[in-house]
Amino acid sequence: MIPPPRKHLNVVAPATFVVVGAGPAGAQACLALREHGFRGRIVLLGEEPHRPYMRPPLSKKLLAGELEEDRVYLRPEALFDAQGIELKRGVRVAAVDTRAARVELDNGLRLPYDALLLATGSRPRRLDVPGAKGPGIHYLRTLDDALRLRRELVPGRRVAIVGGGYIGLEVASTAVSLGCRVRVLEVEDRILARVTTAPVSGYFERVHRGHGVDVRCGVRVAAFEGTDRLETVASSDERFEADVAVIGIGALANDELARAAGIACDDGIVVDEHCRTSEPNVYAAGDCTRHPNRVLGKRVRLESVQNAAEQATVAARNLCGQDIAYDKVPWFWSEQFGLKLQTAGFFQGCDEVVSKGDPARDAFALLYRRAGILIGVDAVNLASEYLAGRREIGLAADAPGHVRSA
Ligand code: FAD
Repeated sequence: MIPPPRKHLNVVAPATFVVVGAGPAGAQACLALREHGFRGRIVLLGEEPHRPYMRPPLSKKLLAGELEEDRVYLRPEALFDAQGIELKRGVRVAAVDTRAARVELDNGLRLPYDALLLATGSRPRRLDVPGAKGPGIHYLRTLDDALRLRRELVPGRRVAIVGGGYIGLEVASTAVSLGCRVRVLEVEDRILARVTTAPVSGYFERVHRGHGVDVRCGVRVAAFEGTDRLETVASSDERFEADVAVIGIGALANDELARAAGIACDDGIVVDEHCRTSEPNVYAAGDCTRHPNRVLGKRVRLESVQNAAEQATVAARNLCGQDIAYDKVPWFWSEQFGLKLQTAGFFQGCDEVVSKGDPARDAFALLYRRAGILIGVDAVNLASEYLAGRREIGLAADAPGHVRSA
């Protein structure tokens, strides 16, 4: 049962604003607070050793070696200093004490706050099979994960990718471009099943096969075998040789801190449209939240840069005394084999699919409608349809009589 949001205080200087998690959401919230006039103390706490960076290049250009590490950072280090944002890296928040209004760091220090933003993001879902913690097994979430994996993707290597979602397929594309031999193992009966419709899945399966990727659907990985290095992967189908395995089977919200603090969670920190949690003066933004979405008419958890940045901005503006609701149409992109997939809204619940363009020419869009109203669009190399669709979804969601799912 989700408790109703309580009345929240607005924070004005002098006050201390603490952010847990120095990812895109955390960083954006700090910058937006300054932009909207907050003059108090801002402390940004991140457990990673790096200053805030973008994750999308980690499976794309950075992994391919086309982009160096110094190009993935969101903002120059000096900007945080110039804005009076105390960025503390390599610091893990171990607990939140909402009664005392303070966070407890893993080094034993305690930091009081007047307002707190939880921007703890998400982490890869782990595969629990024998050998999954052994050599040659990779997950991809952090810059360090990507740099480690990049060293392994050398020509001729046999790469097994577990999971045919965005991350698995982007890594497959990059690994092929680096001269690796790639096999993708997907437990569902088609790739991208969680994020799009069968025609788009079918198109990308053909693209991957066309570039030599061995795509296997309906296959469950049973074990990774090898002594000093990965040697074989055992699946429900067969046992095959591999040098490297990359596991991309989804992400889990980092909501444990909130949960332990008694803040309402439901596979993600539950927030209202103002990014407020069930606890006064505690806000949350980004991958870690479950928030209301006006297109679907229910709460969702999203993993996208757009969602992280825009929710964080809304949280910051509300902290500065404004009254802003987060109501953006979600959008996302992926790049595989030089093709740009852009997606907005949702395909779930559609009762009509309209196609535009031509998949055979690698330029097409699918428009998803429910009761005649556009609720989602997937476009490959067709930015005009994507942009028009995204705009229409936003307008449609505001229209009287808009059908929302239960
Ligand atoms: P995160 O980026 O996860 O940042 C949260 C930070 O909080 C992390 O650094 C974490 O270490 C830190 N943290 C957690 N707990 C604590 C604690 N207790 N104490 C201190 N620090 C803590 N999205 C797109 O829109 N397009 C793409 O093409 C795309 N590609 C992606 C490719 C990859 C390989 C990955 C991994 C993600 C991709 N995403 C993409 C998703 C996007 O990167 C995320 O949605 C976005 O990073 C979410 O931002 P966030 O700030 O909410 O969380």
